[in-house]
Amino acid sequence: MCAKDYSDKASGAASERAYAEMVAQHAPDGVIISGPDRLALWVNPAFTAQTGYGIDALRDKMVVDVLRGAQTDRHCLQKINDACTQRREIQTELQLYARDGRLFWVVLKITPVFDAAGVHTHFISHMRDITERKKLEHQNDEMRQAEELRQSERQLLALTSEWLYSAKSFDELLMVVQRAMHTLIPEADGALYIYGASRSTLDLATSWGTIPDFPPHILPDDCWALRRGRAYAYGLKPIQFTCDHVAKPDTPYFCLPIIAHGETIGLLHIIFDGFEEHGLMRHMRDDVLRNRWDVSLICAEQISLAIANVRLRQELHDKSMRDALTGLWNRRWFMDRALRDFAMAEREGREIALIMLDVDHFKAFNDRFGHDAGDLVLREVGGILTRAASDKIHPCRLGGEEFVILCPDMQAADAAALADGIRAALQALRLANAGVELPEVTVSAGVAVFPTHGRSIEDVLKAADQALYLAKDQGRNCTVIA
Ligand code: GH3
Ligand code: MG
Ligand code: MG
Repeated sequence: MCAKDYSDKASGAASERAYAEMVAQHAPDGVIISGPDRLALWVNPAFTAQTGYGIDALRDKMVVDVLRGAQTDRHCLQKINDACTQRREIQTELQLYARDGRLFWVVLKITPVFDAAGVHTHFISHMRDITERKKLEHQNDEMRQAEELRQSERQLLALTSEWLYSAKSFDELLMVVQRAMHTLIPEADGALYIYGASRSTLDLATSWGTIPDFPPHILPDDCWALRRGRAYAYGLKPIQFTCDHVAKPDTPYFCLPIIAHGETIGLLHIIFDGFEEHGLMRHMRDDVLRNRWDVSLICAEQISLAIANVRLRQELHDKSMRDALTGLWNRRWFMDRALRDFAMAEREGREIALIMLDVDHFKAFNDRFGHDAGDLVLREVGGILTRAASDKIHPCRLGGEEFVILCPDMQAADAAALADGIRAALQALRLANAGVELPEVTVSAGVAVFPTHGRSIEDVLKAADQALYLAKDQGRNCTVIA
């Protein structure tokens, strides 16, 4: 507290001086008066409270030079210098250091003062502490950035799930997974494993990132996530154990089971190789990992749903293309596939053989042994044909007891040999139905070839059918080439 007498008893110039001194003493902002050379002449108590410096420590020095430090913006200092040299007023925000080393933000305003004759005599500098405001601004910035990041992640995830859902085949789905994971978690490598048919191993379906050598197969027991039946994050907790399928020790990674219709069908593996070398500070590294963990959980769920979706689609497609009794492709599949194969054979100048098969005296067989026994025979024929199938031999049931085998790149003689093999296999079967032994069953076969016996599917089918008719005519249980 000042002990001066500011009463209004004094008057005129004296009282004005007293008021000015009152402002200088009690103003909340720091005030510095310096000469035209900017060397300090006087500071107010607020300045000393702000910075810890009294006038004794500053005399014959430039205040900014005393308060500046590593975080002080050089560009700002240059602007202040330029303005003072040109005797212009300047206001700027900058970071300065108090005597105890504390860093603080101020808005600094420097005003040149001129006397009545226009001679520059002083600078008056005002310095208001805005550290709190800056702190809040910084927090707001961080929150806004985090929100923007979350927003763009949400958009990316929505886009990804849209792509995942529109995948028509498993291969297409894998391609989307690969791209999406690389975009969503760019600093990680990863792999998707799917259980093999035997369920004893998981097979590598696709991988992304820079690690070239994910193991092609892993055992369910080698993975903590699969053993415990829930997602596992390595590298976020102080005590943890590495899965056996992970070759790199001390590298953070996630394992997330892929679950469709309540059954675990695979594993999403995400590994942050080289993450430690990014030089992230410990708490930042953990923040990033935690964020990626959240994203990974959503990805695993989306991939799970998408795989279930593709499988369902495949099942429905298969159902509409399969014959229910024998499990062979049906007429619809045959027509679709033949159309494609014939077009390709036409373009590439290749041959296609069609083998028509028809069970001999099947009406009589049904009449004598019953429809169930007849169905049994058809299923057995289906079994023999399925075992003969390959990527160049496509057996189909056209309807009733008639079958056709579509054989791209096959000549008539080879097709006839194939038909004879099937005939022999069927004839060798000993069947019984409801305790009744059944007599041997035979088929007749007709073979025709594109383009020799016709240029369209219909023409080649007709030719094969005529050959079959000839086989029946020649006593059945034989093969005839058109
Ligand atoms: P062919 O040696 O000349 O071929 O004599 P076929 O008796 O086999 O000839 P046909 O075409 O007259 O008879 C076909 C019979 O096949 C008629 C029908 O009873 C039987 N059939 C057709 N579809 C099925 C089926 O899904 N199950 C059973 N059990 N029989 C069927
Ligand atoms: Mg028939
Ligand atoms: Mg028949």
